[in-house]
Amino acid sequence: MSRGGDLLRLQEIDARVVHDTARLRDAEAAIAGDPELERRRRQARKAHREQTAAEDSVATAEKHVEGLRQRARELDRHLYGGSVRNPQELLGMQHELEALRQRIDVEDDRLLELMQAAESAAARERDANGATVELEQVRAGRAGEVLERAAALRAAIDQHERERAELAATQQATDLALYERLRRRVQPAVVHLTADSCGGCHIPFANSEVRHIRLAGEPAQCSGCDRIVVS
Ligand SMILES: [Zn+2]
Repeated sequence: MSRGGDLLRLQEIDARVVHDTARLRDAEAAIAGDPELERRRRQARKAHREQTAAEDSVATAEKHVEGLRQRARELDRHLYGGSVRNPQELLGMQHELEALRQRIDVEDDRLLELMQAAESAAARERDANGATVELEQVRAGRAGEVLERAAALRAAIDQHERERAELAATQQATDLALYERLRRRVQPAVVHLTADSCGGCHIPFANSEVRHIRLAGEPAQCSGCDRIVVS
């Protein structure tokens, strides 16, 4: 193979490294993070906090109503226990008991609403957890595949790099330097002669230039774009 042809092969290997490295980055990103799963987990945590808060409200309200009932029972015992004889006092106690029972009714209604809210919160938490677990299972099934793909890509890149090192070791230093300098400026740095024109910038070559490209030992460059042209 000509020196220019070797540089073309080097360029092909470099392209494979770039391509596989990009795919490896994608695979690594898929392993590292999962925005949709994170969103669902956040939602489940929020639903859990809301459910806990709702349960706390119910417990507080229950305690409050129980205190009122206790007070009503005591008042009731006192009222009908026979220890209070004063009619004025009895009447006062009756009014207090009545007012207390009305408050208990109101508080009972509020408690019922709080319990319904707690039930809804619990249902939302179950749904959020279910949605998270469902996606986790799908992802777990795919995680193995992604890990395998990443491992295969790493092995492929390693292989390309060894191949490149072997090829580069047999090239002349000036050829390698020319290739490296060109590829930083133009991509691709090495092109084919296409219908007697440059495969990069497409300017037509004179017959003498075509002959030079076909026969020259050293890499021939396009007079228009500087690229290395191989036949
Ligand atoms: Zn050119």
